[in-house]
Amino acid sequence: MEFSIEWPYPVNYEKVNEVETDVLVIGGGIAGSWAAISAAKRGVKVAVIDEMDVFSAGPAGCDHWNFAFDNPACKIKPDEAIEILERITGGRVTGIARYVTFNESFKTLLELERLGAKIRDTEDEFKGAPFRDEETKLLYAYDYDIKSSIRVWGQTFRQALYAELMRLRIPLYNRILATSLLTEGGKVGTRVIGAMGVNIRTGEFYVFKSRATVLCTGGMDGACRIWSYWGYCFNSLSSPSLTGVGHMMAFNAGAELAHLDTFGIGMRSHGEMPSYGTGNPANTWYPCTIVDAKGKEIPWVDEYAKKTLKTVEERTRSSLRGYEAVAGVPTWPAELFPKPISHYPSSKEAQDDFFNRIRMGEYVLPLYADLPGMPEHERRAIFGLMVAQEGKTWILYRNLTQAGFDPDKDMLQSYWFGATAPLRSALDPLEIIYRQGGGGIVHDWDFRTNLEGLYVAGDACIYSSEHSGAAVTGRWAGAKAADYAKEVSFGEISWNQVERERQRVYAPTKRSKGIDWKELNVAICKVMRTYVNDLSNEEMLKIALKWLDEMEQGEANRLVARNPHELARTLETLSVLSNAKLIVLYMLEKMRRGEIKGMLTMRLKDNGEIEFKELPPRWWLLPPNAPTYRENYEKHKPW
Ligand SMILES: Cc1cc2nc3c(=O)[nH]c(=O)nc-3n(C[C@H](O)[C@H](O)[C@H](O)COP(=O)(O)OP(=O)(O)OC[C@H]3O[C@@H](n4cnc5c(N)ncnc54)[C@H](O)[C@@H]3O)c2cc1C
Repeated sequence: MEFSIEWPYPVNYEKVNEVETDVLVIGGGIAGSWAAISAAKRGVKVAVIDEMDVFSAGPAGCDHWNFAFDNPACKIKPDEAIEILERITGGRVTGIARYVTFNESFKTLLELERLGAKIRDTEDEFKGAPFRDEETKLLYAYDYDIKSSIRVWGQTFRQALYAELMRLRIPLYNRILATSLLTEGGKVGTRVIGAMGVNIRTGEFYVFKSRATVLCTGGMDGACRIWSYWGYCFNSLSSPSLTGVGHMMAFNAGAELAHLDTFGIGMRSHGEMPSYGTGNPANTWYPCTIVDAKGKEIPWVDEYAKKTLKTVEERTRSSLRGYEAVAGVPTWPAELFPKPISHYPSSKEAQDDFFNRIRMGEYVLPLYADLPGMPEHERRAIFGLMVAQEGKTWILYRNLTQAGFDPDKDMLQSYWFGATAPLRSALDPLEIIYRQGGGGIVHDWDFRTNLEGLYVAGDACIYSSEHSGAAVTGRWAGAKAADYAKEVSFGEISWNQVERERQRVYAPTKRSKGIDWKELNVAICKVMRTYVNDLSNEEMLKIALKWLDEMEQGEANRLVARNPHELARTLETLSVLSNAKLIVLYMLEKMRRGEIKGMLTMRLKDNGEIEFKELPPRWWLLPPNAPTYRENYEKHKPW
């Protein structure tokens, strides 16, 4: 049967809209919303643009847990936390965003509460629970001794931020895909004076002129389409609008990027989604008991303390597991979580051991999450609070509840166990996929990039990848951008630069024959999956580069977009291609240099060359910065 779908919006590729604002925020997720609110509160004119609708922009944002190292009950103070973090990451982490977050997350949460978000058990739903502070009604998560994470009602967060954006009358430009930054004289490496973009419904062009710009376009996680897009599913838990366009725009303007070779182990969508959507013991279901088909409990182990845990309480109290709080941060990183031997086994041997036990009849499949067997407070926290607030699972909560599922009586099957992604990847390196794991845009203690006028916040920064980091850095960068905007005048727009960008953006709409973005996306993915992973050698990377270069010269110039939606996807795919090349070039340079003690950065120069620079270890504590974290924090704190 033939059918046609008419494009429902009036399309006008010729129209150019001009907007002038003191502070332009690109990306209206958590960091962007906070940046806009904090800048507006300092009395400057602010505008926000987002490819989606700011009301529902970004990924889940925050679900049910939030770091709060600066809450008075937390046993690990921010200075201790940063020291631990440096130790367990071997110094690979960049301390600025982390330290600022450790010091500001609870304060930011309190501010969010004033805006209407729910961060404590005001209805006394969990009265008497071991994770509840009866006086403050705060609920602690994961480790009830350390108290570094707080349970929150994350679904109220975005509404509170949105209401505040409305109250402050901040104009929100929804459905605008920012495609490029405007720079003084249209040159690479000069002051950033605004941005350009295209409306993904009408196709109209936008020129935003600003005194300061805050880039809050999230992580490159969505760009893991590079690795994992197989034509039928995305392998990202993040919003599909996170395709790394922000990173590409910043790079093209001359901003420094770093840690682009950060690999992570990703969960494949196929067969495993929705992750946490079935019974399991991790994150959203922590610390749920897992039993086999005959009701036999699967033992939990603490691999850090090398101990089998006997009680549910031991799973949530590091003191009972026999180590001091400072020995690790059990709520982070995830590797230090205790777990049952059926889930997230730490090694191939551990997995084989569990499978052998199944073969020998010690455990009978399938496994189940034993909610009825959990202490009542834990059961209600898992199924009533965590699963209900989690962006990926609330739909499951709703459907199961409507279907009559009763956590007091019913168990939920756990089909996601044993052969988890980390182990498959140990067997097959091609299962290792790219995930946002720290790579991003380099910034100083003001969250200013190396480019004047350009600030960065949230997951787009190096080493910031959770809600509190996004909220804190957004709030901080917004304030700094506002202060800067008050001091400077608008830059002079180069209309040549605008014209060049219009030619680039609309080229796919001018072709009547060619290929569509999905074909190029699959091709990029195949190259990256085949040649680029943590086992790649120089030869493999060079082959990848050759293929990507050929695509850039060939297929990229044959892309066709029949409407603004296809145009947006096409532009994103072109940025995925650019980012893929940057990642390969970065890895090749690292390989060429051998051991790098500090941080390798890369930036584009005005003559088109790429400059790599090796920054010394802990450069953020070297001159012109102060020698300690605390001094820098106090010196740069905007309030
Ligand atoms: C499923 C899921 C659950 C999570 N749960 C938690 C949790 O419980 N607790 C926690 O602490 N963290 C959690 N996180 C992490 C948290 O959501 C992110 O760290 C946080 O949202 C990052 O905020 P951000 O503002 O930097 O980026 P985002 O929130 O990703 O916002 C980026 C925005 O930029 C827009 N954008 C991107 N490119 C462009 C462009 N070129 N032009 C215009 N707009 C653009 C996007 O549309 C998006 O709205 C979760 C993440 C996911 C994916």
